[in-house]
Amino acid sequence: MTNLIDTHCHINFHQFDEDRKEVIQRARDAGVECMINIGADAETSQQSVDLSGEYEFIFSTAGVHPHYAADTGVDEIDLIEHLVKNEKVVAVGEIGLDYYNRSDPDKDIAKELKAIQQRVFASFLEVAKKTDLPVIIHSRDAGDDVLNILKNCFGSHVRGVMHCYSQDKVFLDRCLDLGLYVSFAGNITYKKAQALREVADYAPLDRILIETDAPFLAPQAVRGRRNEPAHVKIVAEEIARIKKIDLEVVSNQTSENARQLFEII
Ligand SMILES: [Zn+2]
Ligand SMILES: [Zn+2]
Repeated sequence: MTNLIDTHCHINFHQFDEDRKEVIQRARDAGVECMINIGADAETSQQSVDLSGEYEFIFSTAGVHPHYAADTGVDEIDLIEHLVKNEKVVAVGEIGLDYYNRSDPDKDIAKELKAIQQRVFASFLEVAKKTDLPVIIHSRDAGDDVLNILKNCFGSHVRGVMHCYSQDKVFLDRCLDLGLYVSFAGNITYKKAQALREVADYAPLDRILIETDAPFLAPQAVRGRRNEPAHVKIVAEEIARIKKIDLEVVSNQTSENARQLFEII
């Protein structure tokens, strides 16, 4: 019997409006004991908290993804500060920096935009500090700045997770040194992800979380389709295969890690 925890999904998103109940049931049937649903801006954080109120085994976060940093003003920050007080909220996130330029991948995003992301990220770290909650970090093409801002706020120890880990071993060591967990998603199953699989092999199991990031990042076996929390089992199976250990060892340990980090029982 597996007892998986999907530590990062967005099942409040509209992609699940037609069949949310069935999706949640399929996750339960696949051995997912609980899910952490992630807010990506003020509105989706509110939706996420509402969803967590409907199911005992769904927990929530509240935060603003760097893509929405520029739309974040005092009202949004006030709402998140209110939401994090909810008893089902187990972390501040997802927050962080994303310097990837979607319209022109060869170019950096504008300096001004980076500055806005940094300011919003830092302000949510303060919220986490005040409320003593862990942080769920989204980092893309911005690793150095992310770690510097984390250190500025928390010093040498950070309670949190680097979600959808996709960087190299050197950066992994820097994350581990800060006390962070790293979370692997369905992209470790992609054909071209050999380097990432080596990183997953290198990462100590007691610092690994697993996630789907549903509806995004469907694993290779279901690639191109909408992802859903039941598929977190595919991520666990891949880690078991990479590390040459039993699926049960992976599910037990990653779930224990999640319970410790997010203080859920
Ligand atoms: Zn993310
Ligand atoms: Zn996400």
